[in-house]
Amino acid sequence: MAPRYDAVIVGAGFGGIGAGIELDRLGLSNFVILEREADLGGTWHVNRYPGLAVDIASVTYSYSFEPNPYWSRLFAPGAELKKYADHVADKYGLRRRMRFGVRVDGARWDEALQQWEIALAGNETVTARYLVTATGFLSQPYTPPFPGIDTFAGRIVHTTAWPDDLDLTGRRAAVIGTGATAVQLVPELAREVAELTVFQRTPIWVVPKVDLAIPAAVQKLFAAVPATQKAARAVNSGLLEALMVVGVLHFRQAKPLNRAVGVLAKAHLRAQVRDKRVREQLTPDYDFGCKRPTFSNHYFTVFNRPNVRLETESIDRIEPDAVVTTDGRRTEIDTLVLATGFNLWDVNFPAFEVIGRDGVDLGKWWRDNRFQAYEGITMPKFPNLVSLNSPYAYSGLSYFTTIEAQMKHMGRLFGEMLRRGARTFEVTGAANDRFLAEVTERLDDSVFYGGDCATARSYYFNPHGEAALLRPNSTIGTHRQAARFPLDDYTFDAATAARTRSA
Ligand code: NAP
Repeated sequence: MAPRYDAVIVGAGFGGIGAGIELDRLGLSNFVILEREADLGGTWHVNRYPGLAVDIASVTYSYSFEPNPYWSRLFAPGAELKKYADHVADKYGLRRRMRFGVRVDGARWDEALQQWEIALAGNETVTARYLVTATGFLSQPYTPPFPGIDTFAGRIVHTTAWPDDLDLTGRRAAVIGTGATAVQLVPELAREVAELTVFQRTPIWVVPKVDLAIPAAVQKLFAAVPATQKAARAVNSGLLEALMVVGVLHFRQAKPLNRAVGVLAKAHLRAQVRDKRVREQLTPDYDFGCKRPTFSNHYFTVFNRPNVRLETESIDRIEPDAVVTTDGRRTEIDTLVLATGFNLWDVNFPAFEVIGRDGVDLGKWWRDNRFQAYEGITMPKFPNLVSLNSPYAYSGLSYFTTIEAQMKHMGRLFGEMLRRGARTFEVTGAANDRFLAEVTERLDDSVFYGGDCATARSYYFNPHGEAALLRPNSTIGTHRQAARFPLDDYTFDAATAARTRSA
């Protein structure tokens, strides 16, 4: 009973695409990529709201081995990221191995057959030697259960389901939420609608975005002399690394730097918003970095416009034609935009039920114990599972540094499997415990524990109050570790490994 596939990858975003490229490199080419959505690209396929752009300079927010010389701006618009994902998937022959509109309901390790059994919606089951989950951190949209939301008579749009033909000209709209999405979207909407009310629960830190169009001559140079783009990437990645390591991870040692960024953000606010009271309302009372900061040159200025109002009173309920705040005031609207983000900790981790060895349920195990994963990628009792969106997986500010470190980890791990002729791998409990102890200790210096994050309502913190997303390492350290982790941290299929040793 050989499994149908070498591997099943769940998710056709940049993580799943990277995993596919790595598996091909290792010669494990009999894989399928299952994708819930109708097309590839993950977040860059799903999110199409006006103003969408990347927040990490594009020379860095891309695979290092697949540079794109033709980014139109320093921070490329979302559509260019989607196009880039299409290009990479086609170039590496991945699209033909993708199945779209396929929802995975669950996966179970079959101990007898030493393979994963993956249940798909519609009663289909596929089997694979390896399971790679690449379902993203920010992939389960969140709609708060506001009382009365079902009675709203106008249009409700979540930012992850933006209709391409949505015309809001002359509308009376409300945006709920002031995260990174709203910061990009609100300036676009303010130009279009007749009236806009922005409902803010927690103010967000906003720093200027130093963006500019990349002249055609520079694009040509990047294409003709790839080393120039590599150099640009190195400089930008170095800056991000310094910001991350010094400002976020070593907050206790470098408080003045963190405070200086806060001062810059407040100066930006002062320069852009005329009304003192509105400025106060827009000022965060938690430390910079507790929650994902944002970058914009236009967000604050919107609040000077006569057709835009900031509302900071809590929402009590939604009525057919209004949002009603707890002080009884009604804001009459015909369009309700939910920029309310994603549910990370309830319906993710993992994105579907995963049952490992001895019937251990991954989601329950994480919740009953602590959220944890060796090197942010594997867990004891889950043989042959590569879980890309695990606790402590995220390393660095560009997601691509995480993806490429994980590709390296896969390369070392699967390379060893192939060398031994083994059929299974499983991380040891001891290695997992050691990693968790290390990250826990290191995080103590970070802004999450050393800073004042009490009022941030940050999704970086899980229900146990632990900041379990970010790996407290330099990206150089993470990459070094991915290429050098002790192979003894894993057990390999005992019988096969013993045969190999005695041969
Ligand atoms: P988010 O950061 O989670 O923001 C959700 C917003 O909705 C918050 O302001 C939140 O308020 C508000 N909210 C949620 N429930 C609410 C309720 N019951 N009542 C009132 N307000 C409520 O989501 P996001 O803006 O979509 O961004 C998510 C992440 O996606 C970002 O952090 C970033 O990592 C990524 N992103 C990246 C880019 C980019 O790179 N260009 C762009 C957009 C998003 P509280 O803060 O009070 O909870």
